[in-house]
Amino acid sequence: MWRFLVRRHALISVSLSLFFALFLASSAYSSHPLPKDSAQSLFKQAQDCFNGLYQSPNKRRYRHNWEGCITRYERVYKGFPDTDEAVWAMYKAGKLWTDLSRYSGKSSDLDQAIALYRELAKRYKAHKLADDAQYKLGVIFYERKKDSRQAYIEFLKVEINFPQGDMCAKASLMLDRLERILGKKRVAREKGKADYTKLQQMVRVEDIRHWSTPTYTRVVIDLADQVKYEGHLLKKDPDLKKPRRLYVDLGNAWINKEIETSIPIKNNLLRMARAGQYDKDTVRVVLDIDNMVGYKIFHLFDPFRIVIDVQGEETMPGEAASAEKPPEKKVKKEEMQKELSLAKQLGLRVRRIIIDAGHGGKDPGAVGRKGMKEKDIVLKLARILAEKVRDNLDCQPVLTRGTDVFLPLEKRTAMANIEKADLFISLHVNAHRYTNVQGLETYFLNIALDEDSMNLAARENATSTKNISDLQVILNGLMLNTKIHESSRLAEFVHRGLMSEVSGGYKQVKNRGVRQAPFYVLIGAEMPAVLVEIGYITNPVECTRLGSDAYLTRVASGIAAGIGHYMKDMEAAYKGG
Ligand SMILES: [Zn+2]
Repeated sequence: MWRFLVRRHALISVSLSLFFALFLASSAYSSHPLPKDSAQSLFKQAQDCFNGLYQSPNKRRYRHNWEGCITRYERVYKGFPDTDEAVWAMYKAGKLWTDLSRYSGKSSDLDQAIALYRELAKRYKAHKLADDAQYKLGVIFYERKKDSRQAYIEFLKVEINFPQGDMCAKASLMLDRLERILGKKRVAREKGKADYTKLQQMVRVEDIRHWSTPTYTRVVIDLADQVKYEGHLLKKDPDLKKPRRLYVDLGNAWINKEIETSIPIKNNLLRMARAGQYDKDTVRVVLDIDNMVGYKIFHLFDPFRIVIDVQGEETMPGEAASAEKPPEKKVKKEEMQKELSLAKQLGLRVRRIIIDAGHGGKDPGAVGRKGMKEKDIVLKLARILAEKVRDNLDCQPVLTRGTDVFLPLEKRTAMANIEKADLFISLHVNAHRYTNVQGLETYFLNIALDEDSMNLAARENATSTKNISDLQVILNGLMLNTKIHESSRLAEFVHRGLMSEVSGGYKQVKNRGVRQAPFYVLIGAEMPAVLVEIGYITNPVECTRLGSDAYLTRVASGIAAGIGHYMKDMEAAYKGG
């Protein structure tokens, strides 16, 4: 829910007067919304500090005096980022770090200044100080860092990004001087400008991540913005000694050489993943494949990323055993694998259950009264559920996170696939703008059928409903390999267990039923997967329950009982024929 609230909040602020916007901002960031905490008064305090420092050579000798003033400016630009004062505060803090570095001799102080000027020039591009900050960057690299090449780039950015700004003429003079030093020609400058401008319009590949086992690989390409992409499969080429290759072309994109673009994936599925600038506006990501049986390519939003899932052949018993291992151990492993894969093929036994506590770290999830956060509630629940899974079901629980850390949604499913889990249970807390809305619901992955489910998917995916409707379209093509039927059965069992256990201990528990929606965290899961919403943090009654261990214990017992019934049903179905 939190993102939704922030957006609404931003909309309201824009539509009100500046004074009122400031008041709202101050109430959002401080528990005491007093007038003395306004951006103007905080900025004035910082200015007084600044003037006091520059008037007193004695004060300037002590680091803590510099840091005191910097902190005051920081309060302005961090607490009131949408004000004019924020830009000035950032600029002045940049100056303080620059001057402090002369006293301290620390290059890390200068780096702080560089970071602030860069952020100002990028974030407040339209502000009249943006070109000044960009110019300062040039000066720092030229005078202080003695890096003429980087200084040249920084001054060039003044000409390119702020051609109407008052720093343009000064930057031009510096560029002339640097051209003489660097032996560059005017033509090169124009070409450099054209190239740089073009590059700015293209989308940067920011990172390539991967998770891999011998039978499964997930590669994620992080991008600065949306791009069009196309996947192709190339046949094995024995003449050129090239394996089968899956490649994805990203249009209007560029890749920085700094990214590790050649990733050796040492398993018998993928040999290597690499990425490079294929032509001037296409980045090509290539996966060299040895025994692929299927693949999926799809994208996720906020930030935009492309996910490539590759499934390999399940190796026959013995094949995967390493030749380095002593033979007696090998036999044992073979037998174990034989038994395991037979049981698995028959779907006889659930052994390992992934328990996914939603959100975490910088992402609090839904937030309720007294600062109660979804991420903390579900982590506590995950721990209790893990115990029940071990004790009551005799299964091995695996937590996606055992602490308060941020985990990208695509990594959670990748972990489940890599752990070869048999079930995937994602735990969440719901929120609604109407406080009377309450109840429990269990979801499986599919296209959303109603508006509530669509809104929820948008929130849990940390994206917009517009992106969800785009996702619905691509999801149709992705559903072929997912265990949709098994997941809906698991959802039914889990939900029934949950409702009966919770209703046994609490009055007026609302059953919102089993539903379906496109959740990122469930896409690509190779096992039956469900997402459980254990109540509304925005509802006063449920919020109180969510804060109690007794409620979470009941929820965990209910989910575990549901899983137990699902397992029994599966065994019965097998025995029955
Ligand atoms: Zn959630």
